[in-house]
Amino acid sequence: MVFNIANIKAFSFLDKYIFNFINFLFPIIILWGKIFGIGRREIERSFIALNNYILTHKNIKVEAKDLLVISPHCLQLATCPHKITHDINNCKHCNQCTIGPLIDMANRMGFHFRVATGGTLARKIAKELRPKMLLAIACERDLTSGIQDVYPLPAAGVLNIRPNGPCYNTTVDLELVEQTIKQFIK
Ligand code: SF4
Repeated sequence: MVFNIANIKAFSFLDKYIFNFINFLFPIIILWGKIFGIGRREIERSFIALNNYILTHKNIKVEAKDLLVISPHCLQLATCPHKITHDINNCKHCNQCTIGPLIDMANRMGFHFRVATGGTLARKIAKELRPKMLLAIACERDLTSGIQDVYPLPAAGVLNIRPNGPCYNTTVDLELVEQTIKQFIK
């Protein structure tokens, strides 16, 4: 991991092994966490932060058109009648939730933006659009499994904010999303 973070090219062949090793260790780390009183969410947050840190230090940069940003359906206002999972253009930009501003950001910066109801749809969208990089907005659990699922596709994560509890009228720090995207586009 030190070689990876230091971006020492000669050791880049280790990337796959390091990632597989982390995946292998993950359930053991969760178990240790239980023993030492560290919650699963905290460990997942560390995994996401470390993953983003490695991607940044590897200086991964793609064209905006090759970046796919996926957000969970719970970011949409629960009472919104517009179906955006099949077509985000159905959003009326009333800005009562963060979907409208995220679409505006995608149009302004040129990346793809989609809303997915779950991991299966997210994987289907990624297969169709064939991005070179993914940025997912989700909770700790979904980000951790999503980053592991799509490997070797580089995937960064931004945590959603859940003022109403999980999976209901969630939101996201739009400034943080934009900052994170800027780190990864040319
Ligand atoms: S911004 Fe779009 S998705 Fe959100 S509530 Fe308004 S119309 Fe619905």
